[in-house]
Amino acid sequence: MKETTQIYDNWCLPSSSEIIKYAGLEQGILLLLFVLIGLVFAFRLKGKNSLSIVSSYRYNLLSNSYLLKIVKSKYFSFSIRFLPALLFVFILITGFYGRKYTSLAAGFTWLFWWTLLIYFVAFAGKVFCAVCPWDFFANLFQFGWFHKLKKSSSGLNLKWPKALKNVYPAIFFFVVLTWLELGFDITRNSYFTAWLGLLMVVMAVLSALIFERRSFCRYACLVGRVSGLYAQVSPVELRKINSQVCTACKTKECITGTTATTPCPTFEKPFKLEQNTYCTLCTECIRSCDKDNLSLFLRPPGVDLEKIKTSRKDESVLAYVMLILTFFHGITMTKYWFTWTAYIGNIANVNYQWSFTILMLITLFGAYFLLKGFELFIARFVSGNNMGMNLAYVFIPITLGYHLGHNSMHLFIELSYLVPIINDPFGFGWNLFGLAGYQPAPFINPDMLRYIQLSVVLIGFYYSIKALRQRLEQISDAVKERTMMFIGYYLIMLVLAVLAIWFVYQPMVMKSVSV
Ligand code: SF4
Ligand code: SF4
Repeated sequence: MKETTQIYDNWCLPSSSEIIKYAGLEQGILLLLFVLIGLVFAFRLKGKNSLSIVSSYRYNLLSNSYLLKIVKSKYFSFSIRFLPALLFVFILITGFYGRKYTSLAAGFTWLFWWTLLIYFVAFAGKVFCAVCPWDFFANLFQFGWFHKLKKSSSGLNLKWPKALKNVYPAIFFFVVLTWLELGFDITRNSYFTAWLGLLMVVMAVLSALIFERRSFCRYACLVGRVSGLYAQVSPVELRKINSQVCTACKTKECITGTTATTPCPTFEKPFKLEQNTYCTLCTECIRSCDKDNLSLFLRPPGVDLEKIKTSRKDESVLAYVMLILTFFHGITMTKYWFTWTAYIGNIANVNYQWSFTILMLITLFGAYFLLKGFELFIARFVSGNNMGMNLAYVFIPITLGYHLGHNSMHLFIELSYLVPIINDPFGFGWNLFGLAGYQPAPFINPDMLRYIQLSVVLIGFYYSIKALRQRLEQISDAVKERTMMFIGYYLIMLVLAVLAIWFVYQPMVMKSVSV
């Protein structure tokens, strides 16, 4: 108890609703906006064919012939991954050989990469997958230097086990990582972080050598799958340019690959792509298509969610798990969490790791069954099947909104802690860039940070309600049923938005304390 209270007292961010002058006014305005958004979409519940008004605006990012030529180069994929892979190796070395709590590996991984990853997904889709160092090594082992082998790849090419052809392996790894990250403090432990990084490489390489294509990326990589669902909201997509060209195409190289390219590593049919979820932006299909009929586009955010045609049970479970774990992150950084874990620790006479594990399991299963119970309750008023599975996707934008708000705190408050560890990457007391006296400080003032956090939660809420409105049309023709579902899901979304806003006003324990 004493130890956890000290952690909180020493490390919390000194801001709370008590010292924010107009907290009540800010919260009142936000509530009003939440209600207005609800009303705007509720008034449109009677309307039909809202799916047809999904924006078709696109901007072809590869319309410039030089850019297209660069992406079509056979060295492109290797080149954009080479430097991130080198950096990754250096990070691992600092983790294995540097000081456990002061070397670069933990700070870079959790303060920089893990925090920025969600920003990249939100604004640029699956760009991390495009430069993924784990997949770089998988390609290196399978296709050789510069990935020259391609058609004659080494590997067993076995089929991925049928029972695991879903995203449950990724969900399992995601839950385990959250448990290690929050319960065992690996965000401060460079040695452990390096082992985790190495484990990801080993899994990616072994999977590439044993199973066909990139089964690991498709089914097991937690980063790929979490960012895959978030990427449905992102304003970047890879799609065909002209449907008629694909219809007339007899060769379909985007599916078969060519002598210099592989088929889609994640088993997608690129010319039929309508969702970002499983596309890793590897650009292999862009190189395969000799008609130059695939490209990267800018588009309005959230489009995938509005026009999604099929729902999958495993993806809906992942959407719920992402929602729960993202908010769970917030809870574990408040003072209440430390009070609860200390309470459980006293009752059960166990240490923090055990009380954390017990409370995490209670939260995870409790929240999941609450959501499922809510789903069953609403389903009583609706005639169709799988209503809940179809609507689980509408939680993605609000989850992303809160995730961005939460990460904004780490980004703007803590990123400057990277400076001393870049100056001394092994923690040996080096002064590589003469910055030994640097004092880390937040990049922006707390008011600005709060406005950013509140804005992204509001934007996430808006896109969730918009997606809800459009998905209801796919589920039911009856206005009464749609209204019931809308009210139910709107209310639960409102509770989540209020919770997200409440977190913004709480003092939070930071990650960077021991840097
Ligand atoms: S994307 Fe290219 S290769 Fe694939 S079907 Fe269309 S035209 Fe053919
Ligand atoms: S659709 Fe194209 S870019 Fe996306 S993963 Fe498949 S081959 Fe790569």
